[in-house]
Amino acid sequence: HLPTIYIITPTAFRAEQKADLTRLSHTLKLVNNIHWIVIEDSESKTTMLSRLLEKSGLNYTHLNVLTPSEYKMASKDPNWLKPRGVLQRNAGLDWLRNHEHSLAEKAVLYFADDDNTYSLDIFEEMRYTQKAAVWPVGLVGYLRYERPVVKKGKVVGWFTAWRPDRPFAMDMAGFAVNVQLVLKFPQARFSNQVQRGYQESTFLSGLQLTLADLEPRAKMCTQVIEKSNEYNLPLCVGFIDYEKAF
Ligand code: UDP
Repeated sequence: HLPTIYIITPTAFRAEQKADLTRLSHTLKLVNNIHWIVIEDSESKTTMLSRLLEKSGLNYTHLNVLTPSEYKMASKDPNWLKPRGVLQRNAGLDWLRNHEHSLAEKAVLYFADDDNTYSLDIFEEMRYTQKAAVWPVGLVGYLRYERPVVKKGKVVGWFTAWRPDRPFAMDMAGFAVNVQLVLKFPQARFSNQVQRGYQESTFLSGLQLTLADLEPRAKMCTQVIEKSNEYNLPLCVGFIDYEKAF
C-alpha cells in the first residue's frame, strides 16, 4: 500500500495568498495519497480558505492559530529577523500526534510553505522515507541552490552560503521525515526562542537524527526539484541537473 504523505502548510494573509494556495492545491491534486494540513495564521478560519479546501477535493485538515504580535514581523523588519510559521507548524505537529490512532500506518511528513514551487517528483522521492530523506532546494539562502553534500552515498555536510556549521543546514523544503519518528519523539517541535536559521536543526535534532540517518534523494542530491521563494531569480521547476544548469 502506498505510504501517505502528510503535508503541513502554514499560511498567512497577504495579497498573493489565495493565488499561492490555489497553485499549491493544484499541485497537490496531482499527488496520490496525501493529507494536507493547512494552518492559518489568523484568529479564526477564513471563508476564503474553507472554500478553497472544500473545492480542491483533497483530503485536508483546516486549523488556525494566530502568531502573537511580539513574534510578528513588522513591514520594516528585514525578512530574516523573526521566524515565520512556527506556531502554525507546531499546531500541525500537535494535530498529527493527537490523531496517532487514525493516521495511515505508513506515513511521511513534509513541511510545504505556501509560496514555494514543487515538482511532482519531489513527492515520490520522499514517499518511502525510513527516517529522514533530504534533497537540494533551488533558489534559496542567496544561492541558486543549497544541497546536502553526499560522499559514498552518505550525507557528510552542507553546501550552503550561510552557516554550514548548523547541525542540519537545510531549508524547511529540503527534507521529509517518517511519521513514526514524529510520534516517537513528541518533544520535537519548532520554537520562537531559537536563533535564526535553526528551526530545521531544532526540529530534526529533536527527532534524535544524525547525519548518518539521512537518506539522500534526487539522484544523490544532484538534482534540484524544489524551489524556495527566497531568491529572486526566474522560476526553476522540474528536474535540473545542477552541473549542467549552473
Ligand atoms: N507565515 C505565517 N505567518 C507569518 C508569515 C508567514 O504563517 O506571519 C507562513 C507563510 O505563509 C509560509 C511560511 O509561514 O507558508 C513561511 O513564510 P515565508 O515564506 O514568509 O518565510 P520564509 O520562507 O521567507 O522564511
